Order: sequence, then C-alpha cells, then structure tokens
Amino acid sequence: MLSHELSANKIKEKIIKREITAQEVVEELFDWINLKEPLIKAYLCLDKEGALLKAKEIDKKLSNGDKVGLLAGIPVAIKDNICTKGMRTTCASKILENFIPPYDAFVVKRIKEEDAIIIGKTNLDEFAMGSSTENSAFDITQNPWDTDRIPGGSSGGSAAVVTADMAFMALGSDTGGSVRQPASFCGNVGLRPTYGRVSRYGLVAFASSLDQIGPITKDVLDAALLLQVISGHDNYDSTCATLNVPDFITGIKHLDDGLKIGIPKEFFGEGLNIEIRNAIMDALKIYEGKGAKLVDISLPHSEYAVATYYIIATAEASSNLARYDSVRYGLRSQLSGDNIIDMYSRTRAEGFGSEVKRRILLGNYALSTGYYEAYYLKASKVRNLIRKDFEDAFEKVDCMVCPTSPTPAFNIGEKTTDPLQMYLTDIYTTPSSLAGIPGISIPCGFTSTDLPIGMQILGKHFDEEKILRVAKLFENETDFHLKKPNLIEPEPKKGIDI
Ligand code: GLN
Repeated sequence: MLSHELSANKIKEKIIKREITAQEVVEELFDWINLKEPLIKAYLCLDKEGALLKAKEIDKKLSNGDKVGLLAGIPVAIKDNICTKGMRTTCASKILENFIPPYDAFVVKRIKEEDAIIIGKTNLDEFAMGSSTENSAFDITQNPWDTDRIPGGSSGGSAAVVTADMAFMALGSDTGGSVRQPASFCGNVGLRPTYGRVSRYGLVAFASSLDQIGPITKDVLDAALLLQVISGHDNYDSTCATLNVPDFITGIKHLDDGLKIGIPKEFFGEGLNIEIRNAIMDALKIYEGKGAKLVDISLPHSEYAVATYYIIATAEASSNLARYDSVRYGLRSQLSGDNIIDMYSRTRAEGFGSEVKRRILLGNYALSTGYYEAYYLKASKVRNLIRKDFEDAFEKVDCMVCPTSPTPAFNIGEKTTDPLQMYLTDIYTTPSSLAGIPGISIPCGFTSTDLPIGMQILGKHFDEEKILRVAKLFENETDFHLKKPNLIEPEPKKGIDI
C-alpha cells in the first residue's frame, strides 16, 4: 500500500516509529496530488514549501527524541472558509479572492500546535452556500467515484481530497449539512459536532446560530482524533461551551450495553432512494445482531426543517455578509462611481455570485419590517418545536440512525437551474443542525453504479462520544470505508462522427 492510501492514525504511527519520515510522506503526497488534482479540482491553493518545512521540523523533533503532538506529521487540508495566517482564504468568492488572513482560526492554531502539516485549502460553494460545490467562483470539483458527478457541498473539496487520498484528513464546516452530506457522497466519515463544542473563531461566518466546524476523515478513529484536537473552550467565541472535552480516542473503545437506537419514521418517507433505504435497513440489522434495540420514533416537525433552515440561514447570512463593503475586506470595484453607495453596490454586484445574492435578498426580505414576524420570528418558533422533538425522542433512545441524504451524488449541472431542488437535498441534515445536536455520517454501502451511501447517526447534545462509538461498532463489522475509487482518467467518450 502506498503511504497516501493509509489512514491518518496509521501514517502517524509509521512516522513516529520512524518507518517513514514526514518529509517522505509530504513528497509522495504532492507527487500524487500533481497527478490526480487535474482530474478532481478540489484544491484552491497548495503549499508544498510550507508543508515540507513543517515536515522537516517534525522529523527533527523525532530524531532528537522530543515530544510530538497528537497529529504528528499528518498532512491535513482545510476548507477555504477557515482562516489560515499568511495563506489565502477566499471562501471560493471573488470578493475575497486576494484575502490573506493575518491570523489563524482557533482550529487551525490547534492542529498546528499538535504538529499537523497543513497542505492546502479546499474548494467549497461560495461562502459555504450550496450542496454541490458548483457555487464556487473558481472551479467545479468532481466526485472521485464518478467525475461526471458533484462531490456534495458545501465542503465538497475537503471530502474529495480525503477520498482521492490527496490529504489524510480535512476540516469542513457544517451549517445545514455541509460536512455530512459531502462525506456521504464521497464515502468518508464526516462529523458535525454539537453547537458550542468547537470554536468558530476564524471561520468566516455564514449563519452564526448554525455554523460548526467538523472533521472529514477516512475512518471513525481519525474523526475522533481530529475532533479531540479541535474541541474545547475558546475565549474568542462566546458561543463555545466551557465543558470539559472527553477523551474521544479512548471513549470509542468502550462498549455500550443495551444500546437503544431510534429510527425516525419521517426520514424514511417519500423521495428516499430505494438503494439508500435498503443499505440503511441492512445496517440496522447489523446493529441488531450486535445486541442493539431498534425503537421507532417520530420527529413530527422535521418536515418543516428545510423551510425553517432556509429562512434562518439566509436571514443570518444577509447580516453577516454586510461586512463585505470594499472598505474593510477584499475586492473593490474598479467602477467605484462617485459616491460610497455606488462603490458598495458595484463591488457587491461584481464580487458575489448568484446564489449568494439570492440568499442576501431572501434574508433581507425575511428580516424586513412587516415580514419579520411572518418569516424570521415564525421560523425561530418552529426551530424550537424541532429541537423539542429531538429532546422528547432522546428520552427513549441513546442515538438515532437515518440516511444522510435522500439520493447519492447527483450529476454536475443536474440541479443548478432549480434552487429549490438543490435546497431539498438537505432534508435529512437540516433538522439536527437546527437542534444543535451532533451527527456523524459514515459509509454504509454502495449503489449498483458504485456510488457511496452514507448513514447518519445523531446524538444528544455534547454526546459525540456515543455517536463515534456507535459509528465504530458498524465500521468494525464492515469494510465500506476501505473501498477506494478507481482514479483513472476516463476513456474519451466514443461518439459517432457526423
Ligand atoms: N446546503 C446547505 C445550504 O446551502 C448547507 C450548507 C452548509 O452547511 N454550509 O445552506
């Protein structure tokens, strides 16, 4: 097996045992990236020089017998809406095309402290608004399992690089599903932590009552490792919990006696692809075989989650994105006009893509006088009902299992002309985002055309330990997470000459 094919935990072990140097890992990885990136187009920026410097530093520490961090020598990719000091952070938007942050996000600082090697920044839907990564102002990332298909979104670049072995692990952000859904489309593990578990300091804000940063990894143990590093209190994010962080890496090894898994009936209704349904049903049998009790539950208000989410998220986005005024950040239109209002509006007209503009308009509408009560206030009340549904259900069960997405990865261009169809793909991820609870997506099968299927496990607030354990229980019994795509340049399609 080539080094880049290993999991993060395994490559770390080899580096620490000095079976391979961090420098060799980085060099081999970049050779592979040079070969495969033109096919996948998942990176917006790569930093080989910085990666090699850090690798040498770690190799030196190891040869001196110095202590190394939890992520020693692991090459990590970062979604390009998370600030990296001295490294461009564009949010895949023209408005931030040349923005170089003067500071590291909390999560970036933490992974650097633990000796990870940051190799580059990954593509996303502009400002993380989307479900396919097609809203990027720069590139359309392709799904390594089928390059005619999207990798999911908005953290599509992070999911694609992990699948294509172009990074050992990656960070994504999840507002309404953007870590879990691309992880499911690309066959990875993707974890959205509880709201408050991980600091958002340095994450470019989209919808502040929903945004969370989470790991996208090759297996469950890697997700536990990365979550361990990025969790914890931070004075720079007032929504960040002051709770102690459990030891996820050890916690994952414990066994649950009398595990009760809830099956929310609303997540298995109309519109769910039959192959996905069958894969989840098979997975549930595996859990039953391991002694879990399956309990039918109901989340009656989840049918309103997509509508509620798209009111709250757009309202918050319209306010968060007001800061891009060409004075404090990023682009300033060359056609600035002769007054400040012209300068603002021309810059914003040039700098934002159409989906971002649509959301700013929707959000301003939902917040405007006369409509606020009918939209934003009402959505906030429905959000409480959705949250209460989860609280009630968690009285009866320890976790819930459901699909991550109603379909597997769709074709490039399939939904771009119909925003509502695109929004509906978030049907199974938005309810838990609104409730603020943690969720993990893990590979649980493949369709007949070899596209990955993701299964979501949802847990109580701050109970990441449980969902990681339940995920690991399934992973131990299956090998879906080990299957790799065939990353070969497709044969040119043979057409008929006319
Ligand atoms: N697809 C959802 C949206 O477009 C979720 C995005 C996200 O989680 N960042 O808003």
